[in-house]
Amino acid sequence: MRISLFFKLMGAFLVLILISALVISFTTLSSTRHAFNQFSSNNRNQWSIRLSEDLAFFYSVSDSWEGVDEFLTSVIYNDARQSGLMGRGRIDRADKDHTFQISGSMDGYNLRLVLVDNTGIVVFDSLNKIIGQTISSDEPGTTYPVSVSNDQVGTLLVSSGEIISGSPAANFLESVRRSILFSVVAGVLIAIVMGALLFNQFTSPLRQLQKAAIAVGKGDFRQRVKIQSRDEFAEVGLSFNQMAENLENAEVARQHYMADVAHELRTPLTAIQGTVEAMQDQILPLDEEQLAILHTQTTLLNRLVDDLRLLTLAETGQLKLMRSMVNPGVIVKQTVDSLKPMTTPKNISVLVQIDPEIQEWQLDSHRFIQILNNLLGNAIRYTPENGTISILLNRVDSGDMEIKIKDTGIGITQDDLPHIFDRFYRADKSRARISGGAGLGLSIVKHLVEAHGGKITVNSPVSEYIEGQSMGTEFVLRLPAGQ
Ligand code: ADP
Repeated sequence: MRISLFFKLMGAFLVLILISALVISFTTLSSTRHAFNQFSSNNRNQWSIRLSEDLAFFYSVSDSWEGVDEFLTSVIYNDARQSGLMGRGRIDRADKDHTFQISGSMDGYNLRLVLVDNTGIVVFDSLNKIIGQTISSDEPGTTYPVSVSNDQVGTLLVSSGEIISGSPAANFLESVRRSILFSVVAGVLIAIVMGALLFNQFTSPLRQLQKAAIAVGKGDFRQRVKIQSRDEFAEVGLSFNQMAENLENAEVARQHYMADVAHELRTPLTAIQGTVEAMQDQILPLDEEQLAILHTQTTLLNRLVDDLRLLTLAETGQLKLMRSMVNPGVIVKQTVDSLKPMTTPKNISVLVQIDPEIQEWQLDSHRFIQILNNLLGNAIRYTPENGTISILLNRVDSGDMEIKIKDTGIGITQDDLPHIFDRFYRADKSRARISGGAGLGLSIVKHLVEAHGGKITVNSPVSEYIEGQSMGTEFVLRLPAGQ
């Protein structure tokens, strides 16, 4: 079952709010009750002291505890004024002061009054339970001595029970409880509304992101999310937008790639088809020369397919190198020799200079030859007659092997330089087409160099502008020693 983040957050928030509300209401209620109890107990204490004084006065007048039950009953029921005892002078005082005191302390709690005479016999019990019995020492309550002229004539025992429901004390505590409950409920409701608004705001970028991700998943790479905050969500949104942009670019690149591949394949295929059809229609003779043209076209096609395969392997990281310890100087010289059929007709001089320190290097010799063939092939192709190509092989300070291939050819313009390693990029389309290149050579070279852990850069122009045509190009390769 799917539970949305919003509800999860709200749930957690609600639990926290309820726990806090319970803790707050419990502590507020118990501290109010405690303070109220304290207040009541102080009142009760004062009242009890006064009552014991009144009882002392009663005793001093009556000289016995006879009739004390009437007196105490009237005190308890707060109707002293009507009782016969009120006629006595000191009860007037009790009426004024004690009635208030009695109200203050009696009017809330179920009090129990027990009066014990000086022999330990109970002469009054407001609960009418133990009158005439000896008081036991574990009877609960606070004791107040009743003394007349320093002689203790009895003991007053006051104990309190539950709050009487409907009493002012109970009403007070009830109203406190109600207002706490009201504040807690109001607080919880406000918190829920605020929480819902906030969490809705918090989770809205996620919902937006989810919508956009679904759209991207379905192939709509133009989807972007709006960044409205500066938090982690904004960072995720930025990364998402970056990813969507990369996907969009990759998709555009893929479409271009497919179009380029189709275009490149079509050229030789059309030529082959045209030649074959012309031969079938006997417009062209079916001879050696035509077959040689067909062969060249199919070779070109094969090379293109091979290049595409190699490039795909390199781009998807599936190109496996077969490295071994080889002598790069020897390979360079062999490659230069193998290219003599291309350099000799153009009278191009090839200068090779190899650092004698470099004897062995960890390389995939087959791929290394491919790199050299591509770079030297281009240098020969784009260098006019009587030009010079120089190859320098050195160990540089970082320990890497540096290979510089420099020609006195036509050079590469500043506009073309940044794209020279892009696949299917040809500085001059018509010229390269005639020379047979599909614009994959340098792209493959770059991948092969990088597969060796190296780097390739290009500089142009590198020589003086000679006779208005020569600018020169230099490719610089850096290959690490490798393990
Ligand atoms: P191609 O197979 O068409 O030669 P490359 O990837 O090898 O493709 O080269 C891409 C383009 O770079 C070429 O079309 C050419 O315009 C330019 N280029 C490469 N090497 C040189 C060079 N040494 N001098 C001048 N231009 C060059």
